[in-house]
Amino acid sequence: MKEGIQPAYYHDTVVKCACGNTFITGSTKEELKVDICSKCHPFFTGHQNFVDVGGRVERFRKKYNLSEEE
Ligand SMILES: [Zn+2]
Repeated sequence: MKEGIQPAYYHDTVVKCACGNTFITGSTKEELKVDICSKCHPFFTGHQNFVDVGGRVERFRKKYNLSEEE
């Protein structure tokens, strides 16, 4: 490791997600905007609810023979 080589300065970056969540991370940028984050991405949350709510409701209705009108 040579001396004199400075790493890029890291800010406490405010990251704003499309879902409304914000969190702080270290980055060379002062502000970041993302479409998906650990709060809304199924890979991180472990469920598919966020992307498959409509499909589940539809299957539930069919299974129990429920109609939209009741
Ligand atoms: Zn998000």
